Amino acid sequence: MKFGSNSMSRLKFALPTNSKSCLKIRPEALAFDIDGVVADTMEIFVDLVRNKLGLKNFSKDSIIEYELYRCVPAPRDAIDELLCITLSDEYTMKIPPLPGAKEFLSKLGQVTNLRFVTARIWPESIIKWLYNLLPEVKQERIEVFATGDPQAKANILKNLGVSVFVEDRLDTCHSLREEGFQVVLFDQPWNRKENSFIRIKHWDELNNFIDWDSC
Ligand SMILES: [Mg+2]
Repeated sequence: MKFGSNSMSRLKFALPTNSKSCLKIRPEALAFDIDGVVADTMEIFVDLVRNKLGLKNFSKDSIIEYELYRCVPAPRDAIDELLCITLSDEYTMKIPPLPGAKEFLSKLGQVTNLRFVTARIWPESIIKWLYNLLPEVKQERIEVFATGDPQAKANILKNLGVSVFVEDRLDTCHSLREEGFQVVLFDQPWNRKENSFIRIKHWDELNNFIDWDSC
């Protein structure tokens, strides 16, 4: 793995890279993906697969890869249609949060801006969703950057001065690590291939890593 000088300095800042016991994160060093991390978006997709495609045994645990075409036994155009519905304004507002996300982000939002970097193209509905989820956080403290492309996340994070990112897509985790970022992998059925990232299964675990004393 090769690092440029800027990447090295970020890596040094974020070390240790894969030791849960030593990890301490300053609140302002942190940013988050949204879908699959804060928003349990696949719950909506799974419901649609069951109800519109009649695949009653399909569950979130059926999604063992990020590539949905390999997980749903249905034609591509049918899967694309359900994805469009899932990400539509109407259905975005129905997405449940992951357990503990509201509590953690409400607390963090009292001490620093909340930065979200999503590969969604259109951020308006998910911004509204975040405002609804986090009424105790001032809206000007909620910053959402929509890249339209997972590969574009690194540059946004660099510009924000972020060094630690919480993400569920394994490919994005690998590329961000190569760019020198500390990555916290949010456990989902589609990212359970072997890897050395710090994995959290609940937001409470992230709470334990925050250096609240630095606030
Ligand atoms: Mg995601």
